Amino acid sequence: MALTRLFAIYPSNKEFGRIQKNLRRALLMPNYVVGHKIPDSDSICSAIALSYLKTTLGEETVPARLGELTPETLFILDKFGFEQPELKTSYAGESLYIVDHSERTQGPDDIDDATILGIIDHHKLGDITTSTPLEIWVRPVGCTNTIIKMMYDFHNVEIPKNIAGAMMCAILSDTVIFKSPTCTTADIKCVEALAEIAGIENPKDLGMDMFKVKSAVDGTPVRDLVLRDFKDFDMNGNLVGIGQLEVIDLAIFDNMKADLEADIAKLKAEGNRHSVLLLLTDIMKEGSELLVVSDNDNLSLEAFGEATTDGKVWLDGVLSRKKQVVPPLQGVFAK
Ligand code: MN
Ligand code: MN
Repeated sequence: MALTRLFAIYPSNKEFGRIQKNLRRALLMPNYVVGHKIPDSDSICSAIALSYLKTTLGEETVPARLGELTPETLFILDKFGFEQPELKTSYAGESLYIVDHSERTQGPDDIDDATILGIIDHHKLGDITTSTPLEIWVRPVGCTNTIIKMMYDFHNVEIPKNIAGAMMCAILSDTVIFKSPTCTTADIKCVEALAEIAGIENPKDLGMDMFKVKSAVDGTPVRDLVLRDFKDFDMNGNLVGIGQLEVIDLAIFDNMKADLEADIAKLKAEGNRHSVLLLLTDIMKEGSELLVVSDNDNLSLEAFGEATTDGKVWLDGVLSRKKQVVPPLQGVFAK
């Protein structure tokens, strides 16, 4: 490359080496890895794990985030000694890897002006398209970090202890400690292997500690709770927002349910959405109470075979938004 040749003709000393490195960095610009808006633990730990892998393979890559982190993710970063990835929302003219989704509504707003180098994901294929060839690793497993582990194995790169710990926690989070119907044998085997590397004796205990942190909602503003894990979907031209709160006991919402319902109605109006759904998931009872505001009064009945009473219904066995909520809703909107 011309730039390398240019640097080769200069004398080399320590000070000049530093300038050279900064100049090289400024001219070449690193690649980024970024997950979805309203980042969860999988999006953040994927960004950290993939950027280390890519950088080790000789491609300077930096993890980034599109928003503030949840208490659960902060717990993981603190436990394994990571800084928060850089908050970066604009990517025009830059190159990036997308992890943990492939939807335009969930990516950076200026995604059309960026170069997508790759997509690593475990959701339904979204609507991101590219004008250049890209690397794609999409697998129907419980967590993006399970796929990234496959990438480490493929490239025969050793996973550092702290990265293994963060990857393991992301898998425990996304699979609800293996209870989610999205969980596969690959995810379970991956957690076992990562726990070994990270030196964690009982991953399930650590998973419960994580969900306890996640369940501490007292004192958090209602809007923050509604948006904590919230995704917008374009369903046949209709904007549908779906939030989810996973806790170890639904009783903690007893005093705030009316406020949550009022807030999702507001959110629907503000965003000109067709519907807003909020899943209050009880990971011990293994089901979700669904709160709905929609232009279609029969949305829940048509999608899940269960009508709402006062905008609420208990859906037994429903733990996964991507596998048990999004597909039936899309079926309703496709009609
Ligand atoms: Mn995610
Ligand atoms: Mn995920």
